[in-house]
Amino acid sequence: MQLPLYCWLYAATADEVPADAAYVELRESGAERPLFGLRADPLAREEAVRHRTPALLDFLLRHIVLAPAFVPHPDARRCAYCDFRPACGAV
Ligand code: SF4
Repeated sequence: MQLPLYCWLYAATADEVPADAAYVELRESGAERPLFGLRADPLAREEAVRHRTPALLDFLLRHIVLAPAFVPHPDARRCAYCDFRPACGAV
């Protein structure tokens, strides 16, 4: 969600849809992993950034606010880098 959200925030403030965004896999090879890639259709990219990203964010926030409980799902790879590890009862 982080990369789409950055794209949406950029589009909202700069009034243009970014060509792409990427994260760097620092833990592994250091390679860049693009969100859209070189072959992404510009109209599909604009639809994803301007409309689908806020819809997804709306869904996620409603899910978080309305969830009766958050049950941890321990995973050795994820837990090692999780910011919530000190508060999590699962590990
Ligand atoms: S430490 Fe807890 S909250 Fe974080 S990924 Fe692991 S199970 Fe999930």
